[in-house]
Amino acid sequence: MKKIRFNQCKIHLKAAIGLIAIIAMLTGCNYLNKETEKVLFNGNDLSGWVEINPATFFVEQSTINATEIPGSLYYIGEDEDDPKFKNFEFSAEIKTTNGSVASVGFHTSNTPGEEKGYLVQILNTDNHGLNFRKTGSLLGIRDVYKSVAPDNEWFTLKIDVEGKRIKVFVNDIQTVDYTEPDELFREAQYADRKLSSGTFAIHSLGSGISIKNIRVKTLPDKLEAEPATDYFTKEKQQMVNTLIEKGYPVIDYHIHMKGGVMLEDILDKSRRTGIFCSVAPNCGVGFPVDTNEKLENFYNEYKDVPIFLAMQAEGREWVTTFEKESIAKYDYVFTDAMTFSDRQGNRMQIWKDEQVNITDPQDFMELLVETIEDVLDNEKIDIYVNATFLPTVIAGEYNELWTPERMDRVVDALARNDIALEISARYKIPGSAFIKKAKDQGVKFTFGTNNGDQDFANLDYCLAMIDECNLQPSDFFLPRAHGQKPVQVK
Ligand SMILES: [Zn+2]
Repeated sequence: MKKIRFNQCKIHLKAAIGLIAIIAMLTGCNYLNKETEKVLFNGNDLSGWVEINPATFFVEQSTINATEIPGSLYYIGEDEDDPKFKNFEFSAEIKTTNGSVASVGFHTSNTPGEEKGYLVQILNTDNHGLNFRKTGSLLGIRDVYKSVAPDNEWFTLKIDVEGKRIKVFVNDIQTVDYTEPDELFREAQYADRKLSSGTFAIHSLGSGISIKNIRVKTLPDKLEAEPATDYFTKEKQQMVNTLIEKGYPVIDYHIHMKGGVMLEDILDKSRRTGIFCSVAPNCGVGFPVDTNEKLENFYNEYKDVPIFLAMQAEGREWVTTFEKESIAKYDYVFTDAMTFSDRQGNRMQIWKDEQVNITDPQDFMELLVETIEDVLDNEKIDIYVNATFLPTVIAGEYNELWTPERMDRVVDALARNDIALEISARYKIPGSAFIKKAKDQGVKFTFGTNNGDQDFANLDYCLAMIDECNLQPSDFFLPRAHGQKPVQVK
């Protein structure tokens, strides 16, 4: 009896709530759903915008164009209405030329020159790593290392802000999914990068860009973003955020689509954590990509995604299996020295215990170091991975077997061939002694997980080595521009 009464009570309550909602709608209390669309550039002149340097921007053919003189534009509204945008969907069509560097600011101050809010980078030119933050980066906060838009073609830039969540899209391909933490710690130079409300700005650092069709759809101020799933603990994400702000290229250069990992998994983790990701097919005899046609096919399937495309060269036969032009389409090439023949001529993959037969560990080490030197001197690669891996049967003697002399030989070979060294999150190698020797010789570093499952971009060991070996942002490798790759110049 009691129970029935309780249920009836609930039904009455639901009806009452429904009625209130209907009244609110009928009486125009619909602020919860208020959206307006605004055109920020009228196509004829710069009314509504304040110019910092009048020599920078000019309007021609319904387009704002920038000269080679750096300058900024701030949107203040046509009727001096002090526009304040909080939640919105911003979009513009943009075209760059070779070397153009520009940015779009949002939540910016109406007082030109006053730093506030975020910047979205515009830079499509592959400029030899001089400025690695490419189009679609949330500048200094979430850096994108590869542009999906080319110079000299119109592309669409979209910026969505909902509550604490910022999304950036280039040609409808999402590059950033950043949720500003409730407790925000910023490096001093980015102290003003935070969400509030404000206007839009266009900054050109010179060398012409063109912008047209600038629109913003304002969304209700009270809008809250749907919460994003966190991949890391708050502390770990904060560590990654700080490294990004300090200018470290926090990149996982060694990710495989293995163990059910799909492209969307990699993209999502890359956008959310800020650890820029990659995908590498295994290429060589007995591996999924074993012909040049398959190498081309893989490239064509994934070339338009904002992650690096890497070629993991396998075995020692890869050098003659694939064509130079096809290899050079990939952002970089890496290999290891885990496949070679023992002194009797038996081919070994030293991560497979059943293929390894070690009677004399010292002799095995000699053969291994000779093999590594041979690979580094003769194979046209960017990064050497799984660097000091030892088969299970002798892995326990790592410190004794990797003598200073053997380390020096490998480090010298890396240095003389200008090949970067992977710090492996999966195998936790090389040890800090090896990394310090390599740093002293000017060898560059990369991070890699070499995942067999969903556990990629988990760089705990690598991040620990930054502190332990005092690695600086300049100690890290960045992919070479087309035309400068080892396969093209060596
Ligand atoms: Zn691998």
